[in-house]
Amino acid sequence: MFNKILIANRGEIACRVIQTAHRMGIKCVAVYSEADRNARHVAMADEAFLLGPAPSSESYLRADKIIEICKQSGAQAVHPGYGFLSENTGFAEALEANGITFIGPPSSAIAAMGSKSAAKEIMSHASVPLVPGYHGDDQDPALLRVEAEKCGFPLLLKAVAGGGGKGMRVVEQMSEFDEALTSACREAKNAFGNPDMLIEKYLTQPRHVEIQVFCDQDGNGVYLAERDCSVQRRHQKVIEEAPAPGLPDEIRVAMGEAAVRAAQAIDYVGAGTVEFLYDVDGSFYFMEMNTRLQVEHPVTELITGQDLVEWQLRIAHGEGLPLQQDQIRISGHALEARIYAEDPDNDFLPATGTLRYLRTPEENAHVRVDTGVVEGDEVSVYYDPMIAKLIVWDDNRDRAIARMVTALEDYRIGGLKTNTRFLRHLANAQPFKDEDLDTGFIEKHRELLFPANNIDTQRNLAITAAYLLESQKAAAFVAGDPYSPFSRQNSWRMNSQYARPMTLIHGDDSHDLRILEQQDHYQISVDGADYQVSASLNDDALQVMINGHRLTVHLFQHNDSITLFHEGEQFSCELHCERFDGGDESSEGSLTAPMNGAMVAVLVEAGQKVAAGETLVVMEAMKMEHSIKAPCDGTVSDIYFAEGDLVSEGAQLIAVTPDEEA
Ligand code: ADP
Repeated sequence: MFNKILIANRGEIACRVIQTAHRMGIKCVAVYSEADRNARHVAMADEAFLLGPAPSSESYLRADKIIEICKQSGAQAVHPGYGFLSENTGFAEALEANGITFIGPPSSAIAAMGSKSAAKEIMSHASVPLVPGYHGDDQDPALLRVEAEKCGFPLLLKAVAGGGGKGMRVVEQMSEFDEALTSACREAKNAFGNPDMLIEKYLTQPRHVEIQVFCDQDGNGVYLAERDCSVQRRHQKVIEEAPAPGLPDEIRVAMGEAAVRAAQAIDYVGAGTVEFLYDVDGSFYFMEMNTRLQVEHPVTELITGQDLVEWQLRIAHGEGLPLQQDQIRISGHALEARIYAEDPDNDFLPATGTLRYLRTPEENAHVRVDTGVVEGDEVSVYYDPMIAKLIVWDDNRDRAIARMVTALEDYRIGGLKTNTRFLRHLANAQPFKDEDLDTGFIEKHRELLFPANNIDTQRNLAITAAYLLESQKAAAFVAGDPYSPFSRQNSWRMNSQYARPMTLIHGDDSHDLRILEQQDHYQISVDGADYQVSASLNDDALQVMINGHRLTVHLFQHNDSITLFHEGEQFSCELHCERFDGGDESSEGSLTAPMNGAMVAVLVEAGQKVAAGETLVVMEAMKMEHSIKAPCDGTVSDIYFAEGDLVSEGAQLIAVTPDEEA
C-alpha cells in the first residue's frame, strides 16, 4: 500500500479521504489556498503546502504546483476528490508521466466520458440504452432543427461538454427551438468553451437513478447498488438516497449490469458512477458517466458497509476488487442531505459569511456528518458553498427519514443563511415519504416545501428575553464577581415592583417588553401579552417553562443579535437599548465587545452615575482603540472585565441600568 498520498482538494471531501487514509496507516499531504490556511483539512493532514491565492485557478487547479509538491513531499499518489482536477485528463497524464499514481481511472477513460455525445456513441455500441435523440458532430442549425423534429417535443438541448446543469434548455415546441439553441450554445461556450449541443427527448417525470461501479486494473467490474438522486433544484442534487425506493430487483440488476458494461467499454479502473434516467414505464436510459467519487457516495457506503475510499486506494495500488458481485449485500436505507450556505427563499441563491455558531447532531451508527468546516470558518465566494453532508441510516426508509428530520433539527447554524429548514420540510413532506419521486419534485410541491412562517413572535421574544437575563447572570458568574447583582439570588428583588424595560427588534418591528423578576420566575409582558417564564441556561441550551409549557430551545448571540433555534425553525431578533437612539449600528452605544481584543481602560466604577455618550471602557483590537460609551443616562450596574483582560467578540463588557430603572 502507499505510504503517503496527496489530496488535491479541500473541504469535506479532503477530510473524508484523509480519514480513511489515516485508518489505513497512510500519511496525508494536504494542499491549500491562502483562504484555507486554517481549514479543517489542513489541520487534519500530516503536512500541508500552500498553493497560492484563493481563486481556484491560482490554487486548487494548479496541476504543475501539485505535482511539484508531490515530488517535494514524497507523495506516491494523488486523490483528486470531486470537482477541481478530478476529471482533468491533462492532470492524470502529467501525474502518470511523473511516475505518480492518479487515484482514479486512466486518462483515456476520463476523455471518453468527457463529452456527453462521444460517451453516448460508446454506450450505444456497448448495448447500454440511450435516451432517443441526436448526438452527432454535425452542429449545423438546419440539421439540428430536422433532428429536433424527428425527436419530437418536449425535447432537451444539452451541452456536449456540460456539467452542473449548465447549458441545458427544455424546448416545448418548434417555435422556441431557434432561440433556445442560440442561448444554450452561448451559455455552453461561456461555461465550457464548447458550444456543441446534443438533443434528447425530454422525459417529463423521470427519476435520476445512478449506479456505483468499481473496476480493478484487470478489467473486473462490480456494481454497488444504486442511488436515487431525483430530488433536485436547478438540475442539481439536494437529497440522495440508497437504495432507490421501490426499484424492482430485476431493474436494479439490469441497470447494474448495463453500468458495468459501460465502464468496461472504456477500460475503466476505480470508482465511477453511471447515471440513468428511470422513466415511469420502467425503462431506463444512460445519461452520463462521472469518472470520480461522487458527492453522494456515503449513502452507498452505509447500505453496503463498505468504505469506497478504501476501495479506491486498494485498486489504485493494484489490488483486485475487495468483493465479488455475489458478495455485495445491501442492508437498510440511507439518505443524504446537502447542507448549503444558500437562500432557498430566494431561488437558492448561494450565501457567504462566517459560521458564527455551528452545532452538529451527535454522530453514531445512524448519523454521519461529512464536513470540512468548523465554527468560525468563512464560507467564501471562491468555492462551493456546501457546508456539510448529513447522512443517516436505518432499517427502512421511514425510519431513516425520521432520523434525518431529527438530525436536521439538531443541526444549528448561525451567522449565515442555510437550507436546513428547507431540507427539513422536504424530508418531512408527505409526498416524499410516499416515494412520489421525480426530478420535478421540488417544483411540484413548492407550497408544501416553502410554508409560511407561523411563528409566535411574542412568545419567542419572551423566551429570548429570559435567555438574555440568564446569560447575563452566567456572564457575571463567570467573571467571578460575587457582588454582581446577577450573582445574587435576590438581586432585583430588592425592588421587585420595578419592571425592567427591554426593546427587541424582530424584522422591521420593534417590541417593548417589561420584565418583573419574581422569586422563581420572570413575569414578562410583550406588547401587552403576559408570560410567566422560568429558565435555566446550560451552554447554548435553555430549558424554559413558559406559561406551563416546558421545552428546550437553543440560542446564540452575536453582538446585539440573538437567534433562537427550536425544532428546526429559527427566530432572530436584535436587542435595542430603549433610550439609545443610535440610528446607524455603530459599535458605540453597544455594551459588547465589537471584536476580539483587550480591555485597555476602565473609566468608571460600579454604582457610578453616567450620562449618555460618556466613555465607560476602552478596548483595543487590531491595533485600534474603541471606546464603549454609555447608551443612556444611568448607573453602572456591573463591569465584567478588568484592565488587561482579553475579551472575545460579542462579550458583554459592562452593564448600565437606565435612570428610569434606578
Ligand atoms: P449535468 O452533467 O449538467 O449535471 P446531466 O446530463 O447529468 O447534466 O443532467 C442533469 C439532470 O437533468 C438530470 O439529473 C435530470 O434531472 C435532468 N435531465 C437530463 N437529461 C434529461 C432528459 N432527457 N429528460 C429529462 N430530464 C433530464
